[in-house]
Amino acid sequence: SAARRPLIAGNWKMHKTIAQTQAFIADLCARPLPLDDVDAVLCPPFTALAAAGAALAGSRVGLGAQNVSWAEQGALTGEIAPAMLTECGVRWVVIGHSERRAMFGELDERVKEKARIALAHGLTPIVAVGETAEEHAAGIALDKVRRQVRAAFDGFADDEIARCVVAYEPIWAIGTGKADSPEEANAVMGAIRADVPGLRDARILYGGSVKPDNIAAFVSQPHIDGGLVGGASLEPASFAALLEGA
Ligand code: PEP
Repeated sequence: SAARRPLIAGNWKMHKTIAQTQAFIADLCARPLPLDDVDAVLCPPFTALAAAGAALAGSRVGLGAQNVSWAEQGALTGEIAPAMLTECGVRWVVIGHSERRAMFGELDERVKEKARIALAHGLTPIVAVGETAEEHAAGIALDKVRRQVRAAFDGFADDEIARCVVAYEPIWAIGTGKADSPEEANAVMGAIRADVPGLRDARILYGGSVKPDNIAAFVSQPHIDGGLVGGASLEPASFAALLEGA
């Protein structure tokens, strides 16, 4: 990851109210953070984005959302449009997280449309991909991930892909405490990078049970440019330690 600045993105999932978000940001921003050397992004729930944007104004900690609609506006009950995010100060958005693919029927085609509309609004897509435990055991992790990445960027120009981030998250490693090995993750990520010319200079993150005590081992790999982190991003001390480790 020599030429690429490390990035730590915290995916809070369905955790934290507005008040809890404000308390987290106040605590985090009172700490000495190594933001000259690493990019930090917090992805709170939608309801806390406006408050988080206000609390982070003037800070170098970035704000991300966990999802975005594929449409500009319209009859899409329960969905959130990209302009609604940018208005809150959001500059990043996670797209195609495995929980959304598995539990909310999110298909590759939608992931692509979401990445496209995000770019059009100046949002940096963090496109999440990864194989199941069964696919991993069957030795087809790379096939699966390669297919997801190609589908997500189908029809994109190389310079558009270069503005995106990919998060490789083996599903069996998410929230399980059983992280992939840095070497194995790096091999998959290097193969994805080699497969898609636009990803040559883009950041590829590892996700799946990243903790303060293993982040350094991941980012020391040549193709691992940071982490997409769930559980370990929920406490300010832990998130700050991840930034230090990266
Ligand atoms: C995630 O939510 O993307 C994730 C990797 O979760 P955890 O860090 O808790 O495994």
